[in-house]
Amino acid sequence: MRPLLSLALFLAGCAHPPPQVALPKVVAAQAKVDWDASGKELVDLLAGYLMADTTNPPGNEARGVDYLGAVLDREGIPWERVPLAPGRDSLIARLEGGDKPALCLLSHIDVVPVEPERWNKPAFSGLIEDGYLYGRGALDMKSLGAMELQTMVLLKRQGVALDRDVVLLAVADEEVDNQGARQLAAMWDKIGCSHVINEGGIGVRGALLDDQLVFPVSITEKGNLWVKMIASGTPGHGSTPRPDQAPDRLLAAVEKLKARDVDVDIQPAMREMLKRAGQEQGGFVGFVMSHRATVGLFVKPKLLANPVTRATITNTINVTGFSGASNMNVVPAEATAQLDCRMLPGTTTDQMLATLRDLVDDDQVRFEVVGGGDAVVTPWEDPLFEAIARNLVDGHDHVVAAPFISVGSTDSTYLRPLGVHAYGIHPIEVSEGDLVGMHGDNERVSVAELQQGLRRLYSIVVDFAAK
Ligand SMILES: [Zn+2]
Repeated sequence: MRPLLSLALFLAGCAHPPPQVALPKVVAAQAKVDWDASGKELVDLLAGYLMADTTNPPGNEARGVDYLGAVLDREGIPWERVPLAPGRDSLIARLEGGDKPALCLLSHIDVVPVEPERWNKPAFSGLIEDGYLYGRGALDMKSLGAMELQTMVLLKRQGVALDRDVVLLAVADEEVDNQGARQLAAMWDKIGCSHVINEGGIGVRGALLDDQLVFPVSITEKGNLWVKMIASGTPGHGSTPRPDQAPDRLLAAVEKLKARDVDVDIQPAMREMLKRAGQEQGGFVGFVMSHRATVGLFVKPKLLANPVTRATITNTINVTGFSGASNMNVVPAEATAQLDCRMLPGTTTDQMLATLRDLVDDDQVRFEVVGGGDAVVTPWEDPLFEAIARNLVDGHDHVVAAPFISVGSTDSTYLRPLGVHAYGIHPIEVSEGDLVGMHGDNERVSVAELQQGLRRLYSIVVDFAAK
């Protein structure tokens, strides 16, 4: 091939493709909604929801169920309460449609505790200031829960003909023990959803390329292994260091774990995300991000340098605590480190445990498994995934929606093993600064993005579930 021709083919192959656009039925459904009025209604709905203190522990999710249930009653949407414990309930509401397996819109009602002295806004007052709605749960995840409810309300009011049921699930206890999701998983035959939209990813601008908004749609969550690493040795008086003490043995074991060679595994979902981001940009960047060799050469070092992206391409072993003697002057017979290990799809908990044993290679160190589970991947060649991606982009330049591996876990962990196709996406854009509000201080959500997010979510649901 002559060089000039190959260059022409190279550039043609990297052309910037036209962005995906909403289907005609979605455009028609969008046109019937008064977005200004429903956006304002959503803000009021969320403000009230944020005022229901559902801090977990103890949860008090019945407060959230009462609040959401009153809206459903007002709109004439049938719902039921699923009791978990005194003061703790989940909620199921259903709009009936055709015979296809149902779509579930899932959220959790509970929120993590606040440290009020670290907040400069009230955490449970539904305060709106300077275009933001403040409160614990504003991002994680009462905002998505309120958008899901408002989507149900719009479907009902507009009389949208559905070819499958659309089910709202608002559950208790995601933040502590996932008891609500596990309870619903046990009755999944009755719920009947083949597909779920839940939390997972959230839109961030500049995550991969400058000025490009990326919606990472979570298709799996890394597996986890929580394990105690316990070293034993000769106990004694703290005044006299001796060989073979448990704390020294433990320290040596931790050093071996820290010094290990880390394998990098850029999985298909991550490659697809890089490819979509690159192709949206087009040109040379598009080429680099679409090919294995150039990704390895130019992109991998960048992914490894950032702790967040590093965790999406490696198995991690993280020491999260130590324990030993309670007295300062006692050398204990045993010293313990707790390890939080997270594995990419393809590495099982058993394999990770074997790796830990091999790395430490000390018969005076034992491992006690506290909990864990393997990653389960939802395919992204799927009509719901396509509907999500299409409507998040919806004709906009510099916007990409792509599959993504979550490093943390959500209630979806309990549904994917049932064969459910669960996708994790909060369809709003959030700044890096506001992201730290999730489980942090002064959690807030942009009112404008909340209203945009409602339009995106409604479009996704119409795309997938309307006739
Ligand atoms: Zn959450």
